[in-house]
Amino acid sequence: MIERREFYIDGAWVNPTAARDWTVINPSTEEPAAIISLGGTADVDAAVAAANAALSGWAATPPAERIALMEKVHEVYKRRHGEVAEAISLEMGAPKKLAHDSQADDCNIEDAIATAKGFEFERPLGDHAPGAQILMEPIGTVAMITPWNWPISQVTLKVFPALAAGCTMVLKPSEFAPLDSMLLAEMLDEAGLPKGVFNLVNGDGEGVGAELSKHPGIDMVSFTGSTRAGIAITKAAAESLKRVRLELGGKGANIIFADAGERAVKTGVRKCFNNTGQSCNAPTRMLVERPFYDQAVEIAREAAESTEIGPAHEEGRHIGPLVSERQFNRVQELIQIGIDEGARLVTGGVGRPDGMNRGYFVRPTIFADVSNDMAVAQQEIFGPVLTMMPFDTEEEAVTIANDTPYGLTNYVQTEDGARRNRLARKLRSGMVEMNYRSRGAGAPFGGVKLSGDAREGGVWGLEEYLEVKSVSGWAAE
Ligand code: NAD
Repeated sequence: MIERREFYIDGAWVNPTAARDWTVINPSTEEPAAIISLGGTADVDAAVAAANAALSGWAATPPAERIALMEKVHEVYKRRHGEVAEAISLEMGAPKKLAHDSQADDCNIEDAIATAKGFEFERPLGDHAPGAQILMEPIGTVAMITPWNWPISQVTLKVFPALAAGCTMVLKPSEFAPLDSMLLAEMLDEAGLPKGVFNLVNGDGEGVGAELSKHPGIDMVSFTGSTRAGIAITKAAAESLKRVRLELGGKGANIIFADAGERAVKTGVRKCFNNTGQSCNAPTRMLVERPFYDQAVEIAREAAESTEIGPAHEEGRHIGPLVSERQFNRVQELIQIGIDEGARLVTGGVGRPDGMNRGYFVRPTIFADVSNDMAVAQQEIFGPVLTMMPFDTEEEAVTIANDTPYGLTNYVQTEDGARRNRLARKLRSGMVEMNYRSRGAGAPFGGVKLSGDAREGGVWGLEEYLEVKSVSGWAAE
């Protein structure tokens, strides 16, 4: 079993101030996979002090040098990519292929480097105002608190733009999936990042997470995770008025018009179940134009019933288990609530899939005839559970789609381009993906309403970590 009790503080792996072991469980087997430590106040103080001490030097390092270091880290990452994928498979249950091809993808690093290369950290305000200069400066020391569902992806979306901006940082990865982040710390070290620029303290939300959120030495908290924790962090951060940026949950609608046909339904089911339904941007509410609805329900049933399920360490295109017993119980409870509140169970249901009695595996589940006020239509389930409902008009589809506390990604499927554009304007969400075209490289990721306010990726993701300084009387250089 892996034992990794140290934290990475001030360029060295150090023991926790007080021993507090935490066991990382392999969700495919329910067996212990690793032991880490949960930190406390003294560990957080040490990490914040190291990050604060490194700030002036790193902020003053020319952007080109910072970018060169990021490129070095990227080289190391590409070489050690397989280790990251294996860690993710082990700790959160993503099957090998998903872990290698998607979870451990290095596109966030590439994007951050490309963005930083094209970014003007200093620029004149405009010809109308001679001597007026805008300086984009690092906000300071950033606390990064991240979830387990896309663990390294959520971490690299923060760490690399923050490095480019000239910030220093303390990362607290999810206690359920800390191993990939510890590998990243090794890589940053190997690439020669100056000590104190990046620090990692493991811990839980109530401990290290809460300490970081209220810490006076932290200038910004960048958080990805549940809406519940996002609210707690915002309250804790309020006393010190630090910047808080939140990437939270979602309950995306997938509006399918009859002309989109069978493939739109099949792909929608697959996207909903991808990563075992544990994606904030999953299209979990499928709204289908009424003439096509009954047929769509049958297509969805077949797609769900042909979804293979298996352990993370096996090759294949199957979906893996849920991350933890807590998530397993929560998803079971919500499936039961769906049944109790009268949604039509098309396939799946409570309990493990046939023949499985160990591991946090759940049955791919489809609910039809769901009304949008049901709990299964309003709450983020975070499992392979799709809710389906019919609509008659475009207006009704928009009303249902927007009738949610969340606003992360909505999806539209139709051949009618004018209709797609109309809907893209009317949907209240940070992202709209249509005809399954994925977001372009450098596009911002983020939401509105209870999905949070952050924008990660591209120029927007870099600007999150920058302050704008307005200078007048600037001499020509
Ligand atoms: P979570 O909120 O329980 O935990 C996320 C992180 O916050 C962990 O590191 C945890 O230790 C920490 N934390 C928990 N309570 C805290 C508190 N009171 N103060 C400070 N830190 C605290 O979420 P999770 O279960 O790890 O992840 C699943 C959630 O993340 C889902 O709701 C999902 O939608 C969301 N998510 C959102 C995005 C996005 O970009 N919008 C991306 C991935 C996941």
